[in-house]
Amino acid sequence: MMIIMKSNATPQQVEHVIEQIKAAGLNVHISQGVEATVIGAVGEAHSIPAERFEGLEGVEAVKRITQPFKLASRQFHPENSVFPLDGFTVGGDEIAVIAGPCAVESRAQITETAWRVKEAGASALRGGVFKPRTSPYAFQGLGQEGLEYLAEAREQTGLPVVAEIMSQTQLDLMVKYVDVLQVGARNMQNFNLLRAIGETQTPVLLKRGLSATIEELLMSAEYILAGGNKQIMLCERGIRTFETATRNTTDINAIPVLKSLTHLPVILDPSHSTGHADYVASVARAAIAAGADGLIVEVHPDPAKALSDGKQSLKPDKFAEMVKQVGQIAQVMGRSLAAVQAVAHG
Ligand code: PEP
Ligand code: MN
Repeated sequence: MMIIMKSNATPQQVEHVIEQIKAAGLNVHISQGVEATVIGAVGEAHSIPAERFEGLEGVEAVKRITQPFKLASRQFHPENSVFPLDGFTVGGDEIAVIAGPCAVESRAQITETAWRVKEAGASALRGGVFKPRTSPYAFQGLGQEGLEYLAEAREQTGLPVVAEIMSQTQLDLMVKYVDVLQVGARNMQNFNLLRAIGETQTPVLLKRGLSATIEELLMSAEYILAGGNKQIMLCERGIRTFETATRNTTDINAIPVLKSLTHLPVILDPSHSTGHADYVASVARAAIAAGADGLIVEVHPDPAKALSDGKQSLKPDKFAEMVKQVGQIAQVMGRSLAAVQAVAHG
């Protein structure tokens, strides 16, 4: 951290800042310029907030040199994090395609979707059983019954399953059933939940909050990493902007920015980021071209009848078309779609 003193700072103010840096357990490196004194605070500075020095008298500005998200940062972990997920790896050369309905609605619906997305080339199955809905009167998900159906679909197709956890009270139940815990946009800063998940070894798909900055997303990942759980995929799912033509605005920039700041895999959700089935494939292709490590896409056998997010859900045949295109873009990028295990039908 660099503490830049005001040009008229007194020697006493400089001395006081130095004392505070030492009290924080950091070493001091002073450079006396013509215009101003710059004090370097050297050491384990990532855990010390810049505000600790910003308010001191005589201080003009405080600049960080190291990122505040130490464990998530590439500065301390230059290689990509790659971890296995039932037959394939995330974060390496393979592109993960997670697909399925917004919500598990019935055994027949999730089973049919699982087979259709698998045949199209998906590498994992998604399906929410605890749904964060804007209205308390809207369908809230099937809960444990939904987890049973997901487990059956997994058993039949071999696809690992991804489902959203909304509260740490659901943790014991969820880890028994799912291969990946999804933390939704609305819970990205539920720090108690992040800490609890950090104590498990279940892989996590952490979605960016509706109005969260990239740094805030990385700080949330840091909570999970600090607990010892290193298997995290970050998910860009669109952010709130002034634009109303789409449900959210896909922040394609977030993909290269995240890939440069962190070693964690980055995936894109073109369904929530656009809110409209017609735009999903275009944005999915763009994401892979931009360097994303995977996609999470909503697919429903009959979107018109979906209990949630039907408008943005792809029909299985449209999804299959999208997977083919994404596979071609992956090749251009020197990558390939995650290979799916062969499991006998029925
Ligand atoms: C979802 O994946 O269905 C979902 C609710 O996503 P988000 O948290 O990104 O809104
Ligand atoms: Mn949804």
